Amino acid sequence: MTIRSIAVLGAGIMGRGIGYVSALAGYDTVLQDVQRSALDHGRAEIASLLDKGVTAGKVEAAAAESAKRRLRTVATLDEAAPADLVIEAVPEDMRLKLEIFAALDRLTPAHTLLASNTSSLSITEMAGATRNPARVVGMHFFNPVHRMKLLEVVRALETSDAAVAGAIEVGERMGKECVVVRESPGFVTSRINAMIGNEAFFMLQEGVASARDIDKALKLGLNHPMGPFELVDLVGLDTRLSILRFLHRTLGEKFRPCPLLEQYVAAGRTGRKSGRGVYDYAS
Ligand code: NAD
Repeated sequence: MTIRSIAVLGAGIMGRGIGYVSALAGYDTVLQDVQRSALDHGRAEIASLLDKGVTAGKVEAAAAESAKRRLRTVATLDEAAPADLVIEAVPEDMRLKLEIFAALDRLTPAHTLLASNTSSLSITEMAGATRNPARVVGMHFFNPVHRMKLLEVVRALETSDAAVAGAIEVGERMGKECVVVRESPGFVTSRINAMIGNEAFFMLQEGVASARDIDKALKLGLNHPMGPFELVDLVGLDTRLSILRFLHRTLGEKFRPCPLLEQYVAAGRTGRKSGRGVYDYAS
């Protein structure tokens, strides 16, 4: 089946990025969110990214204009449901995701592929909220979506070959390189990343080195493009903590969240989005 239209649920950090690559790849794109402000912000950010792409010579002016025309924002799931592919990018909360997949089961046409952008949660469990788990697949994009090359395609217990092929086809048209991962907690990337990020917090807590020096060591010594603290400030400390709690529950003691990370989140230091995480962005 040819996928022509994509609905993205959640217009937060990830939903906006997925909306951008979707519209630019030529898909009729609907961005849905329960908060009007997120939709307005999402539309403005996508337009600004397209304009910057044109100025930098990376996007043709005509392609940017068509992408803007192809993008619609809607407030309800009913309006988003009639699409060939739905990509869910709402907060990392299984209860919320289960409600959404149960609703998508009722509202979407039978041919629609249902994808989740979860960083770690079980796609099999989400598929269990639907009557046809074969059409449910994981599409794990990376932040910032317009720059990161990888798409992790996650095959859940009953995902069909057609759903995996559909996710790869869309990912490649969006300019991504795809890897197919059999479902397991945290897939490949979140599992490794959570481990490195948590260990960095333990080192900071123990006073092994300053945050700046830990970041510098990983960038210059291990060739990581970003330090673990720069990265967690971008991802969100709250998001990282919920991933670690899930990995701790499912994979055991080695993923116990560092108490310092718990403390930062309790203090509201969730990263760039709140103006303060490991580093201060207020000034
Ligand atoms: P976010 O908090 O920035 O955005 C979530 C958006 O969902 C918000 O705008 C919120 O208003 C909206 N929302 C809440 N309930 C909703 C509902 N019922 N229906 C529609 N919209 C709803 O979150 P995010 O960082 O974009 O993360 C979204 C998902 O992507 C999570 O599953 C996360 O694990 C995953 N993810 C995040 C990153 C990252 O770096 N932040 C990377 C890869 C994957």
